[in-house]
Amino acid sequence: MFEYTVIKSNRKSLSIIIERDKSVVVRAPQTLSDDRIKEEVRKRKALIISKIESEQKEVARTAKEFVDGEQFLYMGKYYSLQINLSEARTIDFKDDFIVSARNKEVVKNLLFEWYNQQAIEVLIPRIIYFAEHLGVKRRRINITAAKYTWGSCTPAGTLNFNWRIIKAPPEVIDYIVVHELAHLREHNHSPEFWNIVAVQLPQYEDAKQWLKFNGHELDEDF
Ligand SMILES: [Zn+2]
Repeated sequence: MFEYTVIKSNRKSLSIIIERDKSVVVRAPQTLSDDRIKEEVRKRKALIISKIESEQKEVARTAKEFVDGEQFLYMGKYYSLQINLSEARTIDFKDDFIVSARNKEVVKNLLFEWYNQQAIEVLIPRIIYFAEHLGVKRRRINITAAKYTWGSCTPAGTLNFNWRIIKAPPEVIDYIVVHELAHLREHNHSPEFWNIVAVQLPQYEDAKQWLKFNGHELDEDF
């Protein structure tokens, strides 16, 4: 689900607006109860999510140029790039990416290194956490650059995860991790398999939906 802000006024009907920053604003009549508003939002959930997603796609469709103000996806959110042209070679991530570099090539390399480092720091603890919860023995964990494969596992317990999944929202990352780990217990996609996934992640269908509509975002480096 998503967060939204409710603004009540003297209006007669309810309307849901998705702002440019993808925040959701619900304008409702003063008389409508919070429960009713919740219910109305819930009814339109699928529509709102697909609207947000299609707008995100618009942002991402063009190839990256590594210029000031450009948006980069990280853990499900877009952050803008601020470039300081200098001989320094640093990358700092707070509310934005603040990069000091000589040229675009260096900016690109710094981002690449940063994302790969984050992939290690974010993914490894999640894999260890869920492996314990699922009671599976993992052997090796590889963070790979294999294109078009988000994750895979071998019967011997070696796990491979694409660093680019770090661009997905946290619940999608968890889903990809749990999906592969669950294959160490069930090698197919049987109802038992999905049951194992659902025990860990009751909302996993939302993550599958995200991948269906946004999976292409994880195909390219940025
Ligand atoms: Zn599978």
